[in-house]
Amino acid sequence: MTAQHRYAIRPLDPAAHLFEVCITVSEPDPAGQEFAMPAWIPGSYMIRDYARHVVAARAESDGRDVGLRKLDKSRWRADGVARELTLVLEIYAHDDSVRGAHLDLTHAFFNGTCVFPAVVGQEDLPCVVDIQPPEKPVGRHWRVATAMRRQDAPEYGFGTHVVNNYAELVDHPVEIGQLSIGEFEANGVPHAIAIRGNTRVDMARLCHDLQTICEQHMLLLGVPADLDRYLFLLHAPGKGYGGLEHRWSSANICSRDNLPARGDEGVSDSYRTFLGLVSHEYFHLWNVKRMKPAAFTPYDLSQETHTSLLWVFEGVTSYYDDLALVRSGMIAPESYLELLGQTITRVLRGSGRRRQSVAESSFDAWTKFYKQDANAANAIVSYYAKGSLVALVIDLQLRHETEGKVSLDDVMKAAWQRWGETGEGMPEDGFETMCVDLAGVNIRDFLDAAIRGTGELPLESLLKSVGVEYHLRRSDGAKDKGGKPGGEGNQPDVWLGANLGGNGKPTFAVVHNGGPAETAGIAPGDEFVALDGLRISAADAEARARRYKPGDKSNITVFRGDELITLRLVWEEAPVDTCYLVISDDAAEEVVARRKAWLESE
Ligand SMILES: [Zn+2]
Repeated sequence: MTAQHRYAIRPLDPAAHLFEVCITVSEPDPAGQEFAMPAWIPGSYMIRDYARHVVAARAESDGRDVGLRKLDKSRWRADGVARELTLVLEIYAHDDSVRGAHLDLTHAFFNGTCVFPAVVGQEDLPCVVDIQPPEKPVGRHWRVATAMRRQDAPEYGFGTHVVNNYAELVDHPVEIGQLSIGEFEANGVPHAIAIRGNTRVDMARLCHDLQTICEQHMLLLGVPADLDRYLFLLHAPGKGYGGLEHRWSSANICSRDNLPARGDEGVSDSYRTFLGLVSHEYFHLWNVKRMKPAAFTPYDLSQETHTSLLWVFEGVTSYYDDLALVRSGMIAPESYLELLGQTITRVLRGSGRRRQSVAESSFDAWTKFYKQDANAANAIVSYYAKGSLVALVIDLQLRHETEGKVSLDDVMKAAWQRWGETGEGMPEDGFETMCVDLAGVNIRDFLDAAIRGTGELPLESLLKSVGVEYHLRRSDGAKDKGGKPGGEGNQPDVWLGANLGGNGKPTFAVVHNGGPAETAGIAPGDEFVALDGLRISAADAEARARRYKPGDKSNITVFRGDELITLRLVWEEAPVDTCYLVISDDAAEEVVARRKAWLESE
C-alpha cells in the first residue's frame, strides 16, 4: 500500500461551533514533523490566518502524548517519533461565508484551508478524508455534499473520501445539512447543485438553466480532460451574494429571492443576478483553477502572492459570465447591454480609475481591493469591473482590427491550450503577448494603455463599431445603478460629492475627491445632522438636495465624534456618470453582422 495521510473531521460540539480534526501521518519526519495551516484561501486574496481559529492542539503516537510546539502563527512541530503520529485539533467554526468554516446545530460547512493543516514536506501524498457525523440526535437528516471522490461512503453520505494530494484536499468545500439536491448532465459530464436553506425553488428549471450555462462555457473552451464531475454548493439566506471557485465545484451564496419559484417564467433581474454568479464561478474552472498565473503555480498558502494578472482571471471571467447568458439565449441583447451599462457606471463613479490601473489593482489586491476603506472610491479601481471592460475593449478592438477574423474568444482558446491544458503557469506578460500574436497587427500600445494606463477606455467608439450607442446621463439618485435611460426630468441638478450611509442616522460614507463635500471640509464618518438648519434624515436627504441649484450655498451641520461642526458648502452641478447603451437601429449591415458575431454563439 502506498503511503497516505488520514484526515478525519467531526462536529465535536455544534452548539459551541467546534470541529475536531485528526491528522494521522504514517511516516512522520523522525527529526520532528511540522504541520502548517494556510494563511489564505485561493480565490480570495487576503491573509486570513486560519490557524487563529485553532483553540486546542495536541499530538499522540502509540497511545502516548507527543510534545507539540508552536513555531509561528500557522505552524506546529511534533517531537520525532518512530511510529505513526496523530495531530488532534479543535477548531472554532463560525464564519458563514464561502471562504470560511461554519458549524451549528443546523448544518456544517468547511473549506479545507480552514480545518486541515498540511503535513509539511509530504504535501504530495494522497489523503483519505473521513467525514464523520455529529453525535445524535443532531444531524439526523443531514447529507454530505462535496466533489471529493467517495471511497467508503454512500452517495451524499458520511464516510471516507479520497484526494490525490494536499492541494486537492483544500480545493473541495463540504456542505453538510438538510440539502435540496438537483442533478443534471452537461455534455455528458455529471453535475449537481446542493442547496442549503428553505428555498422552495423550481429545481427542474434551475437544473435546466445551469445546464444551458455550463454547456455554453464548454462550447468556448471544451471539456477539460479531468472534469468528470462538478458540484454547485449554494447557500440561500434572506440576503447574501458571493461565490468562490474550485476545480470541481464552487461555493455560492445568493439571496433566497434570487431563485425561481415553481410557476415563475422569464428571467427577472434578480434571477439574472444569480445566473451571472454561477456563470462566473463556473467559467473559473478553466480561468484560474486550471489556467493560472505562474505566481500561483503552485500556490504558496503561507503568505501573499503577487501577480498583476488578476484582471485576466477575474476581469475576463466577469466579461464572459454575462456574455454567456446572452450568447446562450437566456437573456436578450438589450438585457445584456443593461448589465454592461451598469458595469461602466460602477467604474465611472469612482475617481480611483484615474489613480490605479487594473495591473496595479491586481498586484495590490491583498492590501487595497480586499481592505477597502472610506477612500477606496478615490484610490482604487476594481480589477473585476474595469477588468471586464478591458476584456470588452480588447475583444472589440481585435474584431475591429482583423475585420472579425480574430476575437477574445480566440485568445482564450489559444491561452487555454498553452497554459490550461499543460498546467504551466501563465507568465506576467503571457496574456498580452498572446493578444499581440493573434492580432497580427501592432496593438501593444492599445493594450498598454488599457492594462497599465489610467485614462478612459475607448468604449464609445468601439461599441459604435458593433452598432451600440453609448450614452451618459446624470444619476437619478442612490438607487440608480445605471444601464437604463432613466426617468425624464427626475435627475437632480446638483450633487454633494459624497455617498451617505449609516443605520438610520445619515453618515458620510464616501467623500469624493474634488467634490463639494470634500471642498467644504466634510470627512468620511461625519454624521449629517442638518442642512441649512433643518434636521436631515436618511429618507429625505435626496429629496432635500433636489431643491438646490449649482452655485447655491448651504450650511452643513455634522457631528464629528461628539463635536458639532457647521461647514459651508457650495453646491455643484451633478456629474454625468451614469451609462446606458442602446442598439442603434440605423447601423449598416456589416455592423449588425459584427454585433451578432459578438453576442451570438458560433
Ligand atoms: Zn471570480
